[in-house]
Amino acid sequence: MRIAVLARLLDAGEAQVLEALGLMASLGGEAQSLFLGAAAQSSLSAVGEARLGVHPGLDDPEPELAYAAALRLLGDEAPRLLLMPEGPLFEMIGARLGGHYGMGVVRDVDEVQVEGDGIVLRKGAYGGKANVRLRARGGVVAALRAGAFAAADPPAQTPSVVELGNLAEGGQERRTVRDTSGDDLGRAKVIVSGGRGLGSREGYEGLRPFAAMLGASLGASRAAVDEGWASPSQQVGITGRKVAPELYLAIGISGASQHLSGMSGSRLVIAVNRDEHAPIFEAADIGVVADWYQLWPQLQKALEG
Ligand SMILES: Cc1cc2nc3c(=O)[nH]c(=O)nc-3n(C[C@H](O)[C@H](O)[C@H](O)COP(=O)(O)OP(=O)(O)OC[C@H]3O[C@@H](n4cnc5c(N)ncnc54)[C@H](O)[C@@H]3O)c2cc1C
Repeated sequence: MRIAVLARLLDAGEAQVLEALGLMASLGGEAQSLFLGAAAQSSLSAVGEARLGVHPGLDDPEPELAYAAALRLLGDEAPRLLLMPEGPLFEMIGARLGGHYGMGVVRDVDEVQVEGDGIVLRKGAYGGKANVRLRARGGVVAALRAGAFAAADPPAQTPSVVELGNLAEGGQERRTVRDTSGDDLGRAKVIVSGGRGLGSREGYEGLRPFAAMLGASLGASRAAVDEGWASPSQQVGITGRKVAPELYLAIGISGASQHLSGMSGSRLVIAVNRDEHAPIFEAADIGVVADWYQLWPQLQKALEG
């Protein structure tokens, strides 16, 4: 069975890509590591055959470009199983690739087994309260949940570089504006997420200096996104991003199951909420019962001092 990992060169060596490579190595079969990037690179960590599709626009590609590049790199015949780390590239093109090649598309995958001729995938369901197993007889594009698989430590290889050339179709130029604000959540070591408890857009924006001091990425609950304080790409949860940082700080977030299922891969969770009965405290390793706006000035002083 042919299996491939498809990822951005930008992410090569990141935990999520190493996990996808680890999974591919453990499944056996014919393996391909496919990367898309803006410039050739002399070596990268890869399992099986390493191929690098190169086009100048691929560092931060528009969806059309990323899609055209992926099609050219994958060729006429897609692998039976295409593994993609959950994140920006999958969000942009995963479903379209599945449609193009007639493959099923499954996201939030945390287990994959090859059983005879079938592929069995496990994914979260009902807000993370249950798992379902799906057996695919045809091809599958699987988006892998961050932190669900053991990372590989593959040797560096010299990839065969595929110059992708002109990817514009029909001479038409299409420009898409893509929201990139949550792009780094998947590989963030520290995430500060804000919820409705922050009370206003200014309140949410006020988390930025805190996040900057910690070198953290900024996430959000769906309520904060619905209020228009944060962008949809920053939403953590069952209908947002699944994240697995070393440290997750939840500020003014109640801890609804739909939010928890997106952050359950976090190693250490610290929650700040003024309601001591907030469900987030059941998921937190450290709970701080406090009003954020009283706590923050003291915290700021301590961090700056
Ligand atoms: C199908 C479906 C999918 C969903 N998907 C998601 C998802 O992906 N992600 C997600 O997050 N949600 C999701 N939700 C929504 C989810 O159910 C909750 O409504 C949402 O997570 C609540 O966001 P919140 O915790 O920010 O707001 P709230 O529930 O309103 O909680 C605000 C919290 O802030 C605290 N607070 C208030 N003021 C302060 C203060 N000054 N200092 C400290 N704490 C304070 C309050 O005590 C409260 O606990 C989904 C819901 C459905 C039905």
